[in-house]
Amino acid sequence: MLWGVFLHFLSVFIPFVCISFLIYLLLSHFKSGAWRKQADKWQHLLVVTAHPDDECMFFSPSIFDFIRRQKHVSVLCLSDGTYMQLADTRKKELYDSCRILGIQENNVQLVGDSCFPDDPSRIWNEELVARIILKHLLIIKPDVVLTFDQYGISGHNNHCSIYYGCRKLLQDGRAPSGINFYSLETTNILRKYVSFLDIPLSTVLTSKCYISTISAAIRAVRAMCAHSTQITWYRIAYLMFSRYMLINTLVDVLPGINMPR
Ligand SMILES: [Zn+2]
Repeated sequence: MLWGVFLHFLSVFIPFVCISFLIYLLLSHFKSGAWRKQADKWQHLLVVTAHPDDECMFFSPSIFDFIRRQKHVSVLCLSDGTYMQLADTRKKELYDSCRILGIQENNVQLVGDSCFPDDPSRIWNEELVARIILKHLLIIKPDVVLTFDQYGISGHNNHCSIYYGCRKLLQDGRAPSGINFYSLETTNILRKYVSFLDIPLSTVLTSKCYISTISAAIRAVRAMCAHSTQITWYRIAYLMFSRYMLINTLVDVLPGINMPR
């Protein structure tokens, strides 16, 4: 009886896996849609992260899309990641990781201010976050800013704080005009850890997405390996199963603020 149920499960699950993988392969190579047309015009992406390693663990599909099209990518990392490690080591790891992702060192800024401690229990002051991001925006003038959403993918308070800082900039009308602000969508835990199996559903739910090819995903794993102080069994499991290594789905930081309207 149990064996029969198991065989029936396999007869449904195996075709589902194969079809999902085929859809993933197709979507990672062929991109279309109105949002995509607009997004392809952007020349400069700024990724605002909380810690060294966020760039490759969460944002690599978006970063690779810009790098592949030979556009600019900058990274602004607010904390030096010194929860338990040495700042200099984590800084070097960030630069090494970004180099593997294709981002030049002079486009990587690590703030490392005591106002932004690497601590999951600490909520950063949103006005201070807004100010440091604004200062950076005025200097580098990106077309699009990408950061976490209010749930921060993992629920880490430092991640969530960046979202609230960006939202404050927009709500106060202080963000320079012409810049699009997007958040990386946090999904439920089941979707988070089913890798490419989540891609069909994600692309039905939104057209605002970036999908990595297999070779790009392998490069993102290599970038994560540059963060040698962060390699643990659960991060290895994350690299193997997380959808964020393959797909980024984006949501507006403030609905209605981005182009195209
Ligand atoms: Zn982080």
